[in-house]
Amino acid sequence: MPAFTYCPYCATRLPVDLLRPDAPRACVACGATHYHNSKPAAGALILRDDRVLLVERAVEPFKGYWDVPGGFLELGEHPADGARREALEETGLIVELEDPPFAIMMDHYGDSGDFTLNVYYVARVVGGEARPSDDAAALDWFPLTALPERIAFDHCAELLRRLAARKISRPRSGTTVGTRSPVPGESGPSPSSHVES
Ligand SMILES: [Zn+2]
Repeated sequence: MPAFTYCPYCATRLPVDLLRPDAPRACVACGATHYHNSKPAAGALILRDDRVLLVERAVEPFKGYWDVPGGFLELGEHPADGARREALEETGLIVELEDPPFAIMMDHYGDSGDFTLNVYYVARVVGGEARPSDDAAALDWFPLTALPERIAFDHCAELLRRLAARKISRPRSGTTVGTRSPVPGESGPSPSSHVES
């Protein structure tokens, strides 16, 4: 998304710094300054044993691709609240998040090219009932060692690689996810199972 051409408040044409076209633009009529920022989003890396819950997208962009549950933050919303809200909306599950966030990834969204700043938390299920939302075709648990080929958004494959590397290098550590005892034999690849709805 390009920088504003007109003031969104009073519709006056905004001055442009040709050397820094994405710099903040101050409106000479109403005095408002308009910043051109990446859009904040948050997501939940919901783990169960060594599997991660992904959502098959039913809408563009990346229709038919597997995505991490998440979405854009609302005005004034903390990323942790946004990650929990989106997880519940998209999967029907109530999740508890690890703190601090696991990763912050930059990307862009769809054809508009809006830059996005994506905050991800590792999460575990503490309630709810799994069911895909209207804009999801399916939910499925994938072993971190056997992820699907078609993963939505450019940054998500790298994100999931980092998650798999973390689980190998720091097994069962962490603040909330690592409270269980390890289960023998659960770290190897195994077929993913469909979520019962
Ligand atoms: Zn204005």
